[in-house]
Amino acid sequence: MADKRDYYEVLGVSKGATDEEIKKAYRSLAKKYHPDLNKDDPEGAAVKFKEVNEAYEVLSDADKKAKYDRFGHAAFDQTQGGYGGGFNGGFGGFDVDLGDIFGSFFGGGGQRRNGPVRGNDLNKQINLTFSEAAFGCKKTIEVYRSERCDTCSGSGAKAGTSAETCSVCRGTGQVRNTMGGFFSTVTTCQSCNGTGKIIKTPCESCRGRGSVRRTKTVEVNIPAGIDHGQTMSVSGEGECGLRGGPNGDLLVTVAITPDKTFKRKGFDVYVEKHISITEAALGASCQVPTIHGDVEFTIPEGTQSNSIFRLKEKGIQKLHNSQKGDEYVTIIVDTPKNLSKEQKAKLLEFAEMTGDKNYAGIKKDKGFWRK
Ligand SMILES: [Zn+2]
Ligand SMILES: [Zn+2]
Repeated sequence: MADKRDYYEVLGVSKGATDEEIKKAYRSLAKKYHPDLNKDDPEGAAVKFKEVNEAYEVLSDADKKAKYDRFGHAAFDQTQGGYGGGFNGGFGGFDVDLGDIFGSFFGGGGQRRNGPVRGNDLNKQINLTFSEAAFGCKKTIEVYRSERCDTCSGSGAKAGTSAETCSVCRGTGQVRNTMGGFFSTVTTCQSCNGTGKIIKTPCESCRGRGSVRRTKTVEVNIPAGIDHGQTMSVSGEGECGLRGGPNGDLLVTVAITPDKTFKRKGFDVYVEKHISITEAALGASCQVPTIHGDVEFTIPEGTQSNSIFRLKEKGIQKLHNSQKGDEYVTIIVDTPKNLSKEQKAKLLEFAEMTGDKNYAGIKKDKGFWRK
C-alpha cells in the first residue's frame, strides 16, 4: 500500500480537475485497460484497470475525494479504520457497470433512463361464487403496490426544493465519449444514474424515490359472464409509473368456486333433475332450478332417465353481450327404495298387469334379491 500511485496521477488529471474531467479521463482509461480489450496482456491490463477503477471510485465521490485530498491513501487504509472494503474483491467488487461503459461500444446502445417509464402490472387472484361470476359483481381487492409519493408529488425532492438538472449530462441522462478519434460512444450518465436530475435534498417520506409502497383497496367491477381462469385487466391500478409514466394495470384472474346445483360449460348451465318413476311414466309438471330462479317445466309421459331437455336462454349472460346461454336439464329417474308392504303389493299388481312374470316370481323366491 505504501507505493500506491496518486489517484490523480492514475487518472492523469490535475488536482483541480472538474467532475466531468475526472469522469472523462476514467472512461477513456477504463476502455484502454479493460482486460477484454487487451488480449495480448490481459493480466497487466487487469492491474491497471483495477487501479483506474479504484482511483475513480474515490475521486468521483465528493465525500471520499475530500477525505483523500486531506489524508491521501491513509484515508482508506483499512488498518487505520478508515474507509474499508470494495477494492480487494476483484472486478466483482467494483461498483462499475461495464454494460454502461461498453454498452454502446459493443452495440448495446446507450440506454435512456430519464424518460417516463410505465409502472409494472400486478397480478391478483380472486375467488367468486357461481352466481357472482354469472351475474357480475363488485369486489374489493387489497393490493400492495408502489404509489406516487404525496409529499413530493413524485419528484423525490423535499418540499420547497426541486430536483436540479444534472450538470454532467445537462439533463439528458447520457454522456458522449470520444475514443481514439473515431469511436464515439453514448453511455448512461453516472452522476445522475441516467435520470438527468440531481436531488440535493431528498423528500423524507420517500427518501428521494418519488414513490412509496403501501396497501391499497381497489374496487373491481367483475363483468357478468366471466369464467374460471379468465383474467381481467383493471387499467391504471398497478404499480405507479416513473417520471410521469403511466401506471401499470392490475390483472385479476378469476377462480370460480364449484356450485352444488349448477355446472357450467361456456355460457351454458347444466343441472340434474330427479323425478320419481311415476312422474317419469305419467308425465308431470315440476320446478327446475335455473340461475334466474325456478321455472315450471312439464315432463312428458314416458320420460327416460338421462334424457336431456334444453331451457332456452336460461344460461349465463355472454360477456359484453346481451345474449344468454341455455340451460340443459338432465332427468334422473329415481327408483323407489324402502317400499312399504302395501306399496310393494301395488307394484306387483302392476307387474302382473303388464305381464312381467319376473316381477311376479320375486314374491315366491325371496333369495332373488341376493343374487
Ligand atoms: Zn416523496
Ligand atoms: Zn447526468
